[in-house]
Amino acid sequence: MSANIQAIKEEIENYKVSNEEELEQYRLRFIGRKNILGDLFAEMKNVPAEERKAYGQQINELKDAVTTKFQELIQSLENLKGDAQEDHPDLTLPSRPDTVGAIHPLSATRAEIIRIFERIGFNVSEGPEIEDDWHNFSALNFPENHPAREMQDTFFVEKKPDIALRTHTSSVQVRVMENQKPPIRTLSPGRVYRNEAISARAHCVFHQVEGLFVDEGVSFADLKQTLYYFAKELFGKQTKVRFRPSYFPFTEPSAEMDITCNICGGEGCNICKYSGWVEIGGAGMVDPNVLDNCGIDSKKYSGFAFGMGIERITMLKYQIRDLRLFTENDVRFLRQFTSLS
Ligand SMILES: [Zn+2]
Repeated sequence: MSANIQAIKEEIENYKVSNEEELEQYRLRFIGRKNILGDLFAEMKNVPAEERKAYGQQINELKDAVTTKFQELIQSLENLKGDAQEDHPDLTLPSRPDTVGAIHPLSATRAEIIRIFERIGFNVSEGPEIEDDWHNFSALNFPENHPAREMQDTFFVEKKPDIALRTHTSSVQVRVMENQKPPIRTLSPGRVYRNEAISARAHCVFHQVEGLFVDEGVSFADLKQTLYYFAKELFGKQTKVRFRPSYFPFTEPSAEMDITCNICGGEGCNICKYSGWVEIGGAGMVDPNVLDNCGIDSKKYSGFAFGMGIERITMLKYQIRDLRLFTENDVRFLRQFTSLS
């Protein structure tokens, strides 16, 4: 066998391709129109006559080797592609832990408050978070110079006419009274905004749920009984309720509502500052001016309203000491509520 043929044979045997381009180089070198075997055929005429037959045989064997190798290279390239595409799962890997999401404690409290009031016929109303002066203040009997209207409490979007982020969800109650005839029994839960420094006890964004009941002959006794029912449902049957006189522009008379401390049961602890009572919200009889402002005849109808902070209720219920935990999205905090629904 000539040294040349032997070299080519070895080259073919050792040929490897890792992409289409290299396969094409192989094809051009050994199969294409000006392939290297052509030169060997051309050499034939210089080979002595007695060796020509053997020489021809060697070239033919070489040709067969080229074709066979070409098929092998195509196959190896396809295998290579297949390996890259297939995502071979490693069945020996340990499985990933299945993390279950949790309902946010504020959402759970909101839902629970709604469920409790739905049982006694309250529905849910929602309204815009950007409010005009009428719905947030004027209709609710806020005097023109009331401090709540001032910049330190309210985030104004525009001045004159005043447009602001609502400071309470009472604005939703105004909208309900303007658009519905009594009897009205509605809850308005939602986000509210006040221009306050963020601390463990205060935030500039928080959640309220307010309730409104308007009908003929609604009395303060109805208000007390409704809130008494609510407190027992939410905090347990042993809960006692007390009302302290207070002032709000939109209710008359007005009261703050306390419940017996759910931590110490009224014995006194650091949560209730050793008084045995904790405040959960404000309430009162709807001021007749407010009813009239909303187109409801205050001579025929009366009503009560109450409001509470959802953060406050949640903190009492789950003994959470810092309001900021609700908005920090720390999973170590949120994971503690996976059992809530
Ligand atoms: Zn206590």
